[in-house]
Amino acid sequence: MQGRVVIDEGFCKGCGICVGVCPQSILKLDMDTITPKGYHPATCIDEDACTGCATCALMCPDVAITVYREVRA
Ligand code: SF4
Ligand code: SF4
Repeated sequence: MQGRVVIDEGFCKGCGICVGVCPQSILKLDMDTITPKGYHPATCIDEDACTGCATCALMCPDVAITVYREVRA
């Protein structure tokens, strides 16, 4: 794992932009979950495959995604 994404469901509006831009295709809208605002939130389906590129966070219009990168000592 090189990166890890945390999606704040309180901000996510289920627009799907992050799903479309992730080069690893590991983001999906969670159709089994509904946020307090009534949206299906984005979720990461394969955390091991995240490169930490942060494209998703840059593209999210609602700043709902935080990306953590692994730092090697
Ligand atoms: S781009 Fe942001 S608001 Fe849109 S689905 Fe992804 S996390 Fe949610
Ligand atoms: S940081 Fe990059 S690889 Fe990881 S979920 Fe976001 S767009 Fe995909």
